[in-house]
Amino acid sequence: MTVFTELYDRLKEEQKHLKNELQQLKVEEKSADEQREGSPFGKREEGATEAFELEKRLALERRLSDALAEVEHALKKYEAGTYGICDLCTQPIETARLEALPHANLCLECKVRQTKNARSRTPR
Ligand SMILES: [Zn+2]
Repeated sequence: MTVFTELYDRLKEEQKHLKNELQQLKVEEKSADEQREGSPFGKREEGATEAFELEKRLALERRLSDALAEVEHALKKYEAGTYGICDLCTQPIETARLEALPHANLCLECKVRQTKNARSRTPR
């Protein structure tokens, strides 16, 4: 399991990084709210830009919290001694895959299958 120690450190780093990013996003959201309330102008174009900005921020926030959830899941697996084991088929995940993606919770085969399923589930 010593081969994974370095990956664990990388996951810890990634977790810290993602938490910071999310924190930063929340701070920006808060100051944007304050600016909106303090502004005497309520032009429609500004509103549209704000809505777009908000949407972008929400999408980014979602992406960050998804990534954080994956990283934290991988960290939990490490602590439980199941790190590097595929969540679905319980086979070991390829080491090269883990080195490229330390937060990988599925082996490549299951990941490919899952991606395909997700696509076919989308209507049209
Ligand atoms: Zn698998």
